[in-house]
Amino acid sequence: MTSQRSSSTEVTNQPPPYEDVDLFSSDVPLAEAVKANGGGADAKALANFGRHWGTAAMFAQARAANDDPPRLTTVNGRLDVVEFNPAYHAFMAESVSAGLHNMTWKADGSRAAPPSEVERAARYYMVAQVENGHMCPITMTRAAVAALAAEPKLLATLMPKIGSRAYDPGFKPWSEKSGMTLGMGMTEKQGGTDVRANTTRAEPAGEGYRITGHKWFMSAPMCDAFLVLAQAQGESRFAGLTCFFMPRFDPDGRVNGLNFQKLKDKLGNRSNASSEVEFENAFALRVGEEGKGIRTIVEMVQLTRLDCAISSAGMMRMALAQAVHHARHRTVFQKKLADQPMMGSVLADMALEVEGALALVMRLARAFDRAANDPAEAAYARLFTSVIKYWVCKRAPPFVYEAMECLGGNGYVEDSRLPRLYREAPVNAIWEGSGNVMCLDVLRVLARDGEVARAAIAQLVSEADGLPGIAETAISIRDLLTGAQAENHARLAVEKLAHLAAVAALRNSAPPLAVEAYARTRLAGPRGATFGAALIDSRETAALLDRALPS
Ligand SMILES: Cc1cc2nc3c(=O)[nH]c(=O)nc-3n(C[C@H](O)[C@H](O)[C@H](O)COP(=O)(O)OP(=O)(O)OC[C@H]3O[C@@H](n4cnc5c(N)ncnc54)[C@H](O)[C@@H]3O)c2cc1C
Repeated sequence: MTSQRSSSTEVTNQPPPYEDVDLFSSDVPLAEAVKANGGGADAKALANFGRHWGTAAMFAQARAANDDPPRLTTVNGRLDVVEFNPAYHAFMAESVSAGLHNMTWKADGSRAAPPSEVERAARYYMVAQVENGHMCPITMTRAAVAALAAEPKLLATLMPKIGSRAYDPGFKPWSEKSGMTLGMGMTEKQGGTDVRANTTRAEPAGEGYRITGHKWFMSAPMCDAFLVLAQAQGESRFAGLTCFFMPRFDPDGRVNGLNFQKLKDKLGNRSNASSEVEFENAFALRVGEEGKGIRTIVEMVQLTRLDCAISSAGMMRMALAQAVHHARHRTVFQKKLADQPMMGSVLADMALEVEGALALVMRLARAFDRAANDPAEAAYARLFTSVIKYWVCKRAPPFVYEAMECLGGNGYVEDSRLPRLYREAPVNAIWEGSGNVMCLDVLRVLARDGEVARAAIAQLVSEADGLPGIAETAISIRDLLTGAQAENHARLAVEKLAHLAAVAALRNSAPPLAVEAYARTRLAGPRGATFGAALIDSRETAALLDRALPS
């Protein structure tokens, strides 16, 4: 007979923590998607990466980085330095040493050979399962190279630092550091989406410009330099919105005129610092032509949008893995939760959602890998970056919430990590182009490059030919996008485009059972509003959960 003391302290029916897992080898859909998109040769290195990032120590470090958010501190009377918990710096060092900020570029700043995008996307997907805040400067640094390409001489000077895999958090000029990071300043008080409303001014001064104005959001303020937008006051005329490279120190080695006013108190993304900053005669160099700022910086933004989608897919994967893990260990009414038919349907539907999101982001990474040499891949990247950013980022918050509920009360408690994922999830849909803005971009591509975009959609229809709901979806997308009210109906059209693209991508990477179930539940219906409100049978459930997390 158990003593009174031991019966109250004995822990029964509580699942073990989900940690010390191999984030790659325990994820069959990930391995398949990597292989299908050209990255199969990287599997061994990815498994090493996945084992390391899935350790209990990494999860504990992620909690430490987020429980102790960064603070602005004073140097010589100015708020110049951001202090972080050491765990944040440890993550930066990990991601920089793995090359997540530069592995898609060669030493001269040109594109690395395929499948560098797919290889990076797989790593990014795993990192997003552990810690998201530090990925902000990692993403911006790698993406900035695409915009800096408009200024080849400047890029050539910066590449030895961007190309380095040494993380150097010191507060000193970038040229004196062993590696550097870059941020981005576009958003102002009066307009974020509408950057044309920027009032920050740039005036020519010596070899560069002097910039004055205010940015309402500028994340990762401890970066060594920022790409910022400002209205250039050309010498003889008003030139308009222009992209600039603004270092933290001016060419004389003095701290540049970036006056940080405060750090935002954010819902999630707590380990990352996001600032309000005043530029006071700050030194900057022009990137690209005067007046062509949006065109220049959009090269960077396309890549940050890819990362937003990968990050959201990664967060969904972590939420799913924890839900499946919990349901396999927890017994209710004499059965494992995972064997209760309704819970099986919820988990299987969630597994399908992750299959689709993962297939989309890996397919998009492949398009970025090949866009330079293949016009069809370039067309895919141009149209589907916004579609995929829209859809995958929109799905993450309700997805994490549902996973939380699968864990019951434990899901609502910080130890499960799901509350942090839940707070983090909405940001990817908001920054780098919010939901409606992504849909407007899809309409813009169709208006500007209609023939090419329609050919890209037709290609998907043929790749998905014969699967449930494809023909009807293709007709519906065409009608929604060509009607007089295309803007009113754009969200529905983009959602359908995302599902169509997911089915085509899954056909290339996943087994028929998963592809058929995805198409049937997402395109042909019937389907309710919540996860699990779809017709998935027990044979499919067993197969999908086995793929999601081998038991
Ligand atoms: C944590 C965090 C960090 C950030 N870091 C940075 C950073 O480092 N650098 C930076 O430059 N910015 C940064 N931002 C700002 C972010 O990019 C903007 O908040 C975002 O672009 C939206 O701009 P806004 O806030 O001005 O909203 P608005 O532009 O006012 O948009 C509000 C809503 O209106 C919708 N909308 C806009 N136009 C239309 C339209 N024509 N039709 C229908 N709907 C429309 C949008 O989709 C959005 O939902 C950050 C934001 C956050 C939350």
